[in-house]
Amino acid sequence: MDIYYTIFDLQKAILVYRKQGASIGFVPTMGALHQGHLSLIKKAKQENDIVVCSIFVNPVQFNNKEDFEKYPHTENEDIQLLNQANCDLLFTPSEKEIYPDSTHNNFDFNFGDIDKVMEGKYRPGHFKGVAIVVKRLLEIVLPNKAYFGEKDFQQLAIVKVLAKQFFPTIDIVPCPIIREADGLAMSSRNMRLTIEERKVVSLIYKTLFEAKTKAQSNTVFDLKHWVEGEINAQPLMNLEYFEISDIETLKPIEKWVESQCVIACIAVFIGKVRLIDNIIIEKKNDANRGFKV
Ligand code: AMP
Repeated sequence: MDIYYTIFDLQKAILVYRKQGASIGFVPTMGALHQGHLSLIKKAKQENDIVVCSIFVNPVQFNNKEDFEKYPHTENEDIQLLNQANCDLLFTPSEKEIYPDSTHNNFDFNFGDIDKVMEGKYRPGHFKGVAIVVKRLLEIVLPNKAYFGEKDFQQLAIVKVLAKQFFPTIDIVPCPIIREADGLAMSSRNMRLTIEERKVVSLIYKTLFEAKTKAQSNTVFDLKHWVEGEINAQPLMNLEYFEISDIETLKPIEKWVESQCVIACIAVFIGKVRLIDNIIIEKKNDANRGFKV
């Protein structure tokens, strides 16, 4: 795998492949790589001739300074994993390379309402920061396809809109959530959990999974109340939100009849570590049968 630190060198290398008619798949990450990231690389390898991965811990998407400062950096291990996954090109730019001046802040995005709820509501400025960096990286790499995990479902929805607005020829490819054996969604932030926290944190997925079944026989209100009780009963955990939203618009629903397919999204603090997860809840039929409306 070749490693590039500057836009100039990366684009020069990509151009050589482009001239040979190669298709380019792109996987943007913030590093501290795990099997979740590698599943994106694997899919990109299957669907493209050349795969570019970027590692850039994007300062402008962190609304919490400590979260940014404590974000794990594991460069050597990352390079090893990417080599094993047969990634072709790695782009690890400096902050100055991505943001040479402050003009990136001047851009205003319009994503309708999908960036106003859930993560958008609880992490002000986060999605603007995400949009800024994704736009910048897509402009630099100009891939045929770019890969994003459903673990960050709302981010994926926003990236799809962003691509439609600015890069209509780039395919945004969603990738399923990769989990640990106990169900915990893989995340770079899991490394920051203490042994004790790690033991109890599987409760997040367990609760989501049970909520999916309970959705068949509970109102939205009762289900939300039940999830809140389950999570907050664990002394090490603090629920930030649990929302049930239409899978397309991400608008939170109050009654099952409002949407045919919903996604249940959760954000939980375990000490100072904030984790998110989600599960899709599909209705089994058109008539809301089985769902308490
Ligand atoms: P990050 O490094 O956290 O910015 O993540 C880079 C990409 O990997 C994003 O598109 C994430 O949604 C995706 N990703 C992170 N964790 C997982 C996971 N457990 N399963 C699938 N995709 C993931």
